[in-house]
Amino acid sequence: MKTFALATGSSGNCIYVETANQKFIVDCGLSFSKSKEILEQKGINISELTGIFITHEHSDHVAGLKQFAKQLNCPIYVSKGTLSMLEDIDSTNFIIVKHHDILDLGDSRVFVVNKPHDAKEAISFIVESKSRKVGFFTDLGHVPDELIHVMKNLDMIYLECNYSSEFIKEYCTHMSPRYLNRLMSNVGHLGLHQTIDAIERFARDGQIIMLSHISENTITYEEATTSIFRTLLNMSVDIQLEVSFQGEATEMFDLTLLDKKSSFIEKYEDSLSDDSSQKASIIEEVL
Ligand SMILES: [Zn+2]
Ligand SMILES: [Zn+2]
Repeated sequence: MKTFALATGSSGNCIYVETANQKFIVDCGLSFSKSKEILEQKGINISELTGIFITHEHSDHVAGLKQFAKQLNCPIYVSKGTLSMLEDIDSTNFIIVKHHDILDLGDSRVFVVNKPHDAKEAISFIVESKSRKVGFFTDLGHVPDELIHVMKNLDMIYLECNYSSEFIKEYCTHMSPRYLNRLMSNVGHLGLHQTIDAIERFARDGQIIMLSHISENTITYEEATTSIFRTLLNMSVDIQLEVSFQGEATEMFDLTLLDKKSSFIEKYEDSLSDDSSQKASIIEEVL
Protein backbone atom coordinates (compact mmCIF):
# COMPACT_ATOMS: atom_id res chain seq x y z
CA MET A 1 0.00 0.00 0.00
CA LYS A 2 1.27 3.44 -0.91
CA THR A 3 0.05 6.87 0.15
CA PHE A 4 0.93 10.54 -0.03
CA ALA A 5 -0.77 13.87 0.64
CA LEU A 6 -1.37 16.07 -2.40
CA ALA A 7 -2.16 18.77 0.14
CA THR A 8 -3.48 19.19 3.69
CA GLY A 9 -4.53 22.37 5.47
CA SER A 10 -7.15 25.06 5.27
CA SER A 11 -6.34 25.81 1.62
CA GLY A 12 -7.19 22.28 0.50
CA ASN A 13 -7.04 18.64 1.50
CA CYS A 14 -6.50 15.63 -0.73
CA ILE A 15 -4.75 12.38 0.15
CA TYR A 16 -3.95 9.53 -2.22
CA VAL A 17 -3.93 5.83 -1.31
CA GLU A 18 -2.99 3.02 -3.66
CA THR A 19 -3.24 -0.75 -3.15
CA ALA A 20 -2.37 -3.47 -5.66
CA ASN A 21 -5.60 -2.90 -7.59
CA GLN A 22 -7.23 0.24 -6.20
CA LYS A 23 -6.44 3.93 -6.42
CA PHE A 24 -8.34 6.15 -3.99
CA ILE A 25 -8.34 9.73 -2.90
CA VAL A 26 -9.65 11.04 0.38
CA ASP A 27 -11.27 14.48 -0.11
CA CYS A 28 -11.22 16.78 -3.13
CA GLY A 29 -10.03 20.04 -1.65
CA LEU A 30 -7.91 20.98 -4.68
CA SER A 31 -9.18 21.73 -8.17
CA PHE A 32 -9.39 18.83 -10.60
CA SER A 33 -6.61 20.26 -12.77
CA LYS A 34 -4.26 20.87 -9.82
CA SER A 35 -4.92 17.36 -8.49
CA LYS A 36 -4.31 15.92 -11.95
CA GLU A 37 -1.02 17.79 -12.21
CA ILE A 38 0.26 16.62 -8.80
CA LEU A 39 -0.78 13.01 -9.45
CA GLU A 40 0.96 13.12 -12.83
CA GLN A 41 4.16 14.25 -11.13
CA LYS A 42 3.99 11.00 -9.15
CA GLY A 43 3.31 8.98 -12.30
CA ILE A 44 -0.41 8.49 -11.57
CA ASN A 45 -3.12 9.03 -14.16
CA ILE A 46 -6.14 10.68 -12.52
CA SER A 47 -8.52 8.77 -14.78
CA GLU A 48 -7.44 5.54 -13.05
CA LEU A 49 -8.93 6.55 -9.68
CA THR A 50 -11.28 3.82 -8.44
CA GLY A 51 -12.92 5.67 -5.56
CA ILE A 52 -13.27 9.02 -3.82
CA PHE A 53 -13.92 9.29 -0.08
CA ILE A 54 -15.37 12.52 1.26
CA THR A 55 -14.97 13.26 4.98
CA HIS A 56 -17.25 16.33 5.23
CA GLU A 57 -18.63 19.29 3.34
CA HIS A 58 -16.22 22.09 4.33
CA SER A 59 -14.80 23.77 1.24
CA ASP A 60 -11.18 22.82 1.98
CA HIS A 61 -12.35 19.20 1.48
CA VAL A 62 -14.83 19.48 -1.39
CA ALA A 63 -13.81 22.55 -3.42
CA GLY A 64 -12.86 20.38 -6.41
CA LEU A 65 -15.55 17.71 -6.01
CA LYS A 66 -18.01 19.12 -8.56
CA GLN A 67 -15.34 18.90 -11.25
CA PHE A 68 -14.18 15.46 -10.11
CA ALA A 69 -17.79 14.21 -10.26
CA LYS A 70 -18.09 15.56 -13.80
CA GLN A 71 -14.78 14.23 -15.10
CA LEU A 72 -14.58 10.80 -13.44
CA ASN A 73 -16.97 7.89 -13.33
CA CYS A 74 -15.89 6.29 -10.05
CA PRO A 75 -17.87 5.85 -6.80
CA ILE A 76 -17.91 8.80 -4.37
CA TYR A 77 -18.36 7.58 -0.80
CA VAL A 78 -20.03 10.11 1.45
CA SER A 79 -22.25 10.26 4.55
CA LYS A 80 -25.92 11.10 4.17
CA GLY A 81 -25.43 14.30 6.18
CA THR A 82 -22.52 15.45 4.03
CA LEU A 83 -24.41 14.66 0.83
CA SER A 84 -27.33 16.77 2.02
CA MET A 85 -24.92 19.73 2.10
CA LEU A 86 -23.62 19.13 -1.45
CA GLU A 87 -26.79 20.20 -3.21
CA ASP A 88 -25.07 21.73 -6.23
CA ILE A 89 -23.26 18.51 -7.11
CA ASP A 90 -25.23 16.13 -9.25
CA SER A 91 -23.85 12.62 -9.63
CA THR A 92 -25.18 9.09 -9.85
CA ASN A 93 -21.91 7.86 -8.36
CA PHE A 94 -22.58 8.85 -4.75
CA ILE A 95 -22.62 5.91 -2.33
CA ILE A 96 -23.91 6.65 1.16
CA VAL A 97 -21.83 5.29 4.02
CA LYS A 98 -22.16 5.58 7.78
CA HIS A 99 -20.41 5.03 11.09
CA HIS A 100 -19.02 1.48 11.44
CA ASP A 101 -19.61 0.53 7.81
CA ILE A 102 -16.99 -1.76 6.30
CA LEU A 103 -16.61 -1.53 2.53
CA ASP A 104 -15.13 -4.44 0.64
CA LEU A 105 -13.38 -2.92 -2.34
CA GLY A 106 -11.26 -5.39 -4.27
CA ASP A 107 -8.11 -6.02 -2.29
CA SER A 108 -9.01 -3.38 0.30
CA ARG A 109 -11.38 -2.89 3.17
CA VAL A 110 -12.40 0.58 4.14
CA PHE A 111 -13.72 1.30 7.62
CA VAL A 112 -15.93 4.30 8.35
CA VAL A 113 -16.00 6.06 11.73
CA ASN A 114 -17.73 9.21 12.90
CA LYS A 115 -15.60 12.08 14.08
CA PRO A 116 -16.39 15.13 16.22
CA HIS A 117 -16.35 18.14 13.89
CA ASP A 118 -18.82 20.95 13.22
CA ALA A 119 -20.06 19.58 9.92
CA LYS A 120 -23.32 17.77 9.17
CA GLU A 121 -22.06 14.16 9.53
CA ALA A 122 -18.26 14.15 9.45
CA ILE A 123 -16.60 10.77 9.03
CA SER A 124 -13.09 9.36 8.87
CA PHE A 125 -11.86 6.49 6.76
CA ILE A 126 -9.36 3.74 7.44
CA VAL A 127 -8.02 1.81 4.46
CA GLU A 128 -6.71 -1.69 5.05
CA SER A 129 -5.02 -3.90 2.49
CA LYS A 130 -2.79 -6.90 3.07
CA SER A 131 -2.56 -6.14 6.81
CA ARG A 132 -1.48 -2.55 6.22
CA LYS A 133 -3.66 0.19 7.60
CA VAL A 134 -3.72 3.92 7.03
CA GLY A 135 -6.20 6.34 8.63
CA PHE A 136 -7.11 9.99 8.08
CA PHE A 137 -7.74 12.04 11.21
CA THR A 138 -7.92 15.74 10.55
CA ASP A 139 -10.79 18.11 11.34
CA LEU A 140 -11.39 16.72 14.83
CA GLY A 141 -12.48 18.83 17.78
CA HIS A 142 -11.19 16.16 20.13
CA VAL A 143 -10.12 12.53 19.97
CA PRO A 144 -12.70 10.12 21.47
CA ASP A 145 -11.50 6.86 23.02
CA GLU A 146 -12.77 4.85 20.07
CA LEU A 147 -10.52 6.74 17.69
CA ILE A 148 -7.52 6.22 19.99
CA HIS A 149 -8.28 2.50 19.85
CA VAL A 150 -8.39 2.70 16.05
CA MET A 151 -5.15 4.71 15.83
CA LYS A 152 -3.26 2.19 17.98
CA ASN A 153 -3.73 -0.35 15.21
CA LEU A 154 -2.74 1.78 12.25
CA ASP A 155 0.59 1.70 10.44
CA MET A 156 0.25 5.27 9.27
CA ILE A 157 -1.86 8.06 10.73
CA TYR A 158 -2.54 11.39 9.07
CA LEU A 159 -3.05 13.34 12.31
CA GLU A 160 -4.18 16.92 12.68
CA CYS A 161 -2.09 19.49 14.52
CA ASN A 162 -3.96 22.65 13.60
CA TYR A 163 -3.06 25.32 16.15
CA SER A 164 -1.18 26.13 19.31
CA SER A 165 -3.08 27.88 22.11
CA GLU A 166 0.17 29.61 23.18
CA PHE A 167 0.70 30.95 19.65
CA ILE A 168 -2.91 32.13 19.50
CA LYS A 169 -2.62 33.94 22.83
CA GLU A 170 0.52 35.70 21.68
CA TYR A 171 -0.01 36.44 18.01
CA CYS A 172 -3.71 36.08 17.14
CA THR A 173 -5.31 38.82 19.21
CA HIS A 174 -6.43 40.51 15.96
CA MET A 175 -8.50 37.47 14.95
CA SER A 176 -12.22 37.28 15.64
CA PRO A 177 -12.99 35.67 19.01
CA ARG A 178 -15.86 33.81 17.32
CA TYR A 179 -13.46 32.24 14.81
CA LEU A 180 -10.97 31.29 17.52
CA ASN A 181 -13.67 29.86 19.80
CA ARG A 182 -14.93 27.72 16.95
CA LEU A 183 -11.39 26.57 16.11
CA MET A 184 -10.66 25.55 19.69
CA SER A 185 -14.07 24.06 20.53
CA ASN A 186 -14.50 20.32 20.95
CA VAL A 187 -16.02 20.13 17.46
CA GLY A 188 -13.42 22.37 15.83
CA HIS A 189 -9.82 21.34 15.18
CA LEU A 190 -7.06 19.57 17.10
CA GLY A 191 -4.58 21.84 18.83
CA LEU A 192 -1.01 20.90 19.66
CA HIS A 193 -1.77 19.79 23.24
CA GLN A 194 -4.60 17.56 22.03
CA THR A 195 -2.39 16.08 19.31
CA ILE A 196 0.31 15.33 21.89
CA ASP A 197 -2.25 13.83 24.27
CA ALA A 198 -3.56 11.57 21.50
CA ILE A 199 -0.04 10.47 20.54
CA GLU A 200 0.70 9.63 24.16
CA ARG A 201 -2.37 7.40 24.17
CA PHE A 202 -1.92 5.55 20.86
CA ALA A 203 1.69 5.65 19.68
CA ARG A 204 3.69 2.44 19.39
CA ASP A 205 6.88 1.39 17.66
CA GLY A 206 6.87 1.20 13.89
CA GLN A 207 4.11 3.71 13.10
CA ILE A 208 4.34 6.68 10.78
CA ILE A 209 2.65 9.85 12.00
CA MET A 210 2.03 12.51 9.37
CA LEU A 211 1.26 15.84 11.02
CA SER A 212 -1.50 17.32 8.89
CA HIS A 213 -3.90 20.24 8.48
CA ILE A 214 -1.37 22.56 10.13
CA SER A 215 -2.56 26.16 9.95
CA GLU A 216 0.29 28.62 9.50
CA ASN A 217 -1.86 31.39 11.00
CA THR A 218 -2.18 29.69 14.36
CA ILE A 219 0.95 27.56 14.85
CA THR A 220 4.44 27.26 13.34
CA TYR A 221 5.72 24.06 11.78
CA GLU A 222 8.71 24.32 14.09
CA GLU A 223 6.59 24.46 17.26
CA ALA A 224 4.49 21.52 16.07
CA THR A 225 7.39 19.28 15.10
CA THR A 226 9.75 20.06 17.98
CA SER A 227 7.03 19.62 20.63
CA ILE A 228 5.87 16.34 19.17
CA PHE A 229 9.39 15.09 18.59
CA ARG A 230 10.11 15.77 22.27
CA THR A 231 6.99 13.83 23.25
CA LEU A 232 8.12 10.84 21.19
CA LEU A 233 11.58 10.97 22.73
CA ASN A 234 10.08 11.01 26.23
CA MET A 235 7.91 8.05 25.33
CA SER A 236 10.90 6.17 23.85
CA VAL A 237 8.81 4.97 20.92
CA ASP A 238 10.29 4.35 17.53
CA ILE A 239 7.99 6.46 15.35
CA GLN A 240 8.62 8.02 11.98
CA LEU A 241 7.42 11.62 12.31
CA GLU A 242 6.52 13.40 9.06
CA VAL A 243 4.94 16.75 8.25
CA SER A 244 2.57 17.76 5.51
CA PHE A 245 3.31 21.38 4.61
CA GLN A 246 0.45 23.49 3.33
CA GLY A 247 0.54 23.87 -0.44
CA GLU A 248 3.16 21.16 -0.89
CA ALA A 249 2.72 17.50 -1.78
CA THR A 250 4.52 15.04 0.48
CA GLU A 251 6.72 12.22 -0.70
CA MET A 252 5.14 8.82 -1.39
CA PHE A 253 5.15 6.35 1.54
CA ASP A 254 5.25 2.64 0.80
CA LEU A 255 3.68 0.83 3.76
CA THR A 256 4.57 -2.59 2.39
CA LEU A 257 8.14 -1.81 3.43
CA LEU A 258 7.14 -1.69 7.12
CA ASP A 259 7.39 -4.78 9.32
CA LYS A 260 4.38 -7.03 9.10
CA LYS A 261 1.75 -6.29 11.75
CA SER A 262 -1.32 -8.20 12.89
CA SER A 263 -4.66 -7.69 11.23
CA PHE A 264 -6.54 -4.53 12.01
CA ILE A 265 -9.89 -6.27 11.96
CA GLU A 266 -8.93 -8.66 14.72
CA LYS A 267 -8.11 -5.75 16.97
CA TYR A 268 -10.97 -3.57 15.83
CA GLU A 269 -13.57 -6.27 16.40
CA ASP A 270 -14.75 -4.93 19.77
CA SER A 271 -15.56 -1.54 18.33
CA LEU A 272 -17.65 -2.76 15.44
CA SER A 273 -21.40 -2.25 15.42
CA ASP A 274 -23.80 -4.89 16.62
CA ASP A 275 -24.41 -6.16 13.14
CA SER A 276 -23.30 -9.62 14.12
CA SER A 277 -23.79 -11.28 10.73
CA GLN A 278 -21.51 -8.70 9.09
CA LYS A 279 -19.00 -8.99 11.89
CA ALA A 280 -19.06 -12.78 11.83
CA SER A 281 -18.48 -13.00 8.10
CA ILE A 282 -15.53 -10.64 8.23
CA ILE A 283 -13.94 -12.33 11.19
CA GLU A 284 -14.47 -15.74 9.65
CA GLU A 285 -12.75 -14.58 6.49
CA VAL A 286 -9.82 -13.02 8.28
CA LEU A 287 -9.04 -15.38 11.11
ZN1 LIG B 1 -10.37 20.99 6.97
ZN1 LIG C 1 -13.63 20.93 8.43
